Amino acid sequence: MMKNMYDVGDHVFVVRTRNSKIIVDCPVCYGDKSVIVILGNDEQVKVPCQYCKKGFNDPSGVVNSGYIEISEIVQTTITEVRKRQNYNELEITYSTPAGIYRPEQVSNTRKEAEKLGETRVEKFNKLADEKFAKKYKDHKSYSWNAGYYLNKAKQSFKDHERYSKLAEIMNSKSHHRKDKS
Ligand SMILES: [Zn+2]
Repeated sequence: MMKNMYDVGDHVFVVRTRNSKIIVDCPVCYGDKSVIVILGNDEQVKVPCQYCKKGFNDPSGVVNSGYIEISEIVQTTITEVRKRQNYNELEITYSTPAGIYRPEQVSNTRKEAEKLGETRVEKFNKLADEKFAKKYKDHKSYSWNAGYYLNKAKQSFKDHERYSKLAEIMNSKSHHRKDKS
């Protein structure tokens, strides 16, 4: 069944959507940009958070947790109806001054358009949530990073300062455990 057919000159409501980035605190370092790794000998090493670090940049303390889709209803007029045969299906697109839309984005009434928009946004955001949950599982190994930076710090005098800063040994255990007493 072909839903809502429109002609040139019809006044319609279209669902315009756009993606917006969701920036949240890093789920691993909680904005600290570093994490503390406790080694097997109880030594504590502070290493840069690898989860919110992008490439060669420093950790940012925040991550893009995905995209949220925002819908907006725009009233417009159809200026052109384009039909294209795609195998057995007739694909229709409507050109309007507000852009080009597919039939499922076009409606007679604002109310119906709002409903179309909600459904679309819900679907999109559910997918985005699932993607983020998956990504969170993939975070890197901190023990590996702790070892890497410690070794580098010991290796050469030239790099010593740089890597010492990255792998700051938390000698003061008492300081760390103060709040537990
Ligand atoms: Zn982080």
